[in-house]
Amino acid sequence: MILLFGTRATVETLAIVSFVCHYCGVAAPQEVYRRVNRFTIFFLPLFRLSTRHFVECSNCAATTALTEEQARNGAAYAAQRRTTA
Ligand SMILES: [Zn+2]
Repeated sequence: MILLFGTRATVETLAIVSFVCHYCGVAAPQEVYRRVNRFTIFFLPLFRLSTRHFVECSNCAATTALTEEQARNGAAYAAQRRTTA
């Protein structure tokens, strides 16, 4: 019997916030996203192996790792700005 197993990564955008990038120094939109790695058997995702959060600059594409709380705060900030604007 052949058992096919592996991992699959999915990326989900949580928010887009605008601030000055630490790397390029330009005030540009920054994408806050979550990357989830799942264990798969026969290409079907079964369970979550890891979850990581990042912010990526739209100007220079530099990526910075975030904690889950930082990503949640970024999404809440973007939602707050959306409702007040
Ligand atoms: Zn940048």
